[in-house]
Amino acid sequence: MSQTSTKEPSFRESVDLMFNRAVALMDLPPGLEEKIRVCNATYTVRFGVRLRGQIQTFTGYRSVHSEHMEPVKGGIRYSLGVNQDEVEALAALMTYKCALVEAPFGGSKGGLCIDPRQYEEHELEMITRRFAYELAKRDLIHPSQNVPAPDMGTGEREMAWIADQYARMNTTDINARACVTGKPPHAGGIAGRVEATGRGVQFALREFFRHPADVAVANLSGSLRDKRIVVQGLGNVGYHAAKFLSQEDGAKITGIIERDGALSDERGLDVDAVQAWIANHGGVKGFADGTYVEDGASVLEQECDILIPAALEGVINLSNADRIKAPLIIEAANGPVTAGGDEILRNKGCVIIPDMYANAGGVTVSYFEWVKNLSHIRFGRMGRRQEESRHQLIVDELERLNAHLGDAWSMTPDFKEKYLRGADELELVRSGLDDTMRVAYQAISRVWHARDDCADLRTAAYLVAIDRVATSYRAKGL
Ligand code: NAD
Repeated sequence: MSQTSTKEPSFRESVDLMFNRAVALMDLPPGLEEKIRVCNATYTVRFGVRLRGQIQTFTGYRSVHSEHMEPVKGGIRYSLGVNQDEVEALAALMTYKCALVEAPFGGSKGGLCIDPRQYEEHELEMITRRFAYELAKRDLIHPSQNVPAPDMGTGEREMAWIADQYARMNTTDINARACVTGKPPHAGGIAGRVEATGRGVQFALREFFRHPADVAVANLSGSLRDKRIVVQGLGNVGYHAAKFLSQEDGAKITGIIERDGALSDERGLDVDAVQAWIANHGGVKGFADGTYVEDGASVLEQECDILIPAALEGVINLSNADRIKAPLIIEAANGPVTAGGDEILRNKGCVIIPDMYANAGGVTVSYFEWVKNLSHIRFGRMGRRQEESRHQLIVDELERLNAHLGDAWSMTPDFKEKYLRGADELELVRSGLDDTMRVAYQAISRVWHARDDCADLRTAAYLVAIDRVATSYRAKGL
């Protein structure tokens, strides 16, 4: 649950406040400003499913924030906290996120007010199929109009059910698989989607650390190596981000916060071991290494170099922002810092890499999956062997010349193997994601430094995104 105090604006109001701060620095006609800010439509559905001998009624939402580009895109969340305000805030963030990473979509989001842990798999399937049916019959799931994806509480399994439900209802739609992304590979998914958001967080941090001037603003220096990281939420996003940053970049995960408390260890926690423990025991309590802290949220305030809130919104707010010690926060979750919390942190000099950029890896790879589904062919299938044979030509020629010189030199041992291998789908997806995260950060950072009136990365991100959405609307004659 969000820990917001009564003075705190709602999640949607928080997003609006941040939007307003940026748009005040722009020269948009007021009408257009309003058109971009408002949520176009929210559909609420209540439907019944017979479970355990009784009809249970569920409430779900699908919100469409902006249709300046179609389809609109955004995840479906399963959580008891789901409500209209939250879904609309998340849909708005999707609009700006897609604009920022140049994914050609408008913004949308959906949610079902349910605790998925309370249901058996076959029950969840019935509920998901019924929800999908309600949305699909109103074109709120549709390959060219509205394409959902996973979010908190949902994953590949739910996306496969949704895709199948849509296909059953649209038996002649050759593009049916493109109606939803985040599907498992055997059901039209793409390699690298499951970990894409966490991978994107890693790529975002790597790019940040390639900008020494930006790193210095956070009072940090050097690279990611040995940086102390606290992560909240070891779910899809938090787990992958923490795993890659510790295993590939040499960072130390010194705190992990979950629902039932937190683990803290200055030497660094083994992310895979903690995840396995949670899978078997339902929480972090009892894990052998590190110190268990019952009041998990207090670990947000622990000394560290980088704080990664990757669970839910509103966790850094008016009530605790002044006690946060991390000089750098990367918002892996959507909306983890409220507008009030954001102001306190900014005044303290904390650098925040904002959600709309930080967690855009998911929608970026979803975009690749959607393109793959529409083109009906796996990335790399046509070119991979041709690439390998051209590389082989060069290697053969070098070896022939070397033989001519009496074997005067030799290649680095693994050069041939690495150079000869053509890129498969996973490598292409990673390359596309890496490029997207780098280019988007560069656009934000440029605006941050170029404008005296732009004091932070979040405002810069909004400025870049709103400008792109406005350009789209203008092209439509608005
Ligand atoms: P998830 O359900 O896989 O994981 C959420 C994790 O947070 C779980 O481990 C859960 O136990 C933990 N958690 C819940 N409440 C908590 C609390 N009060 N304190 C500490 N931990 C708590 O969800 P996810 O897909 O990883 O999404 C997390 C965040 O990232 C959400 O804000 C979501 O909108 C955002 N996001 C997800 C994706 C994606 O591709 N999945 C993409 C973009 C943004």
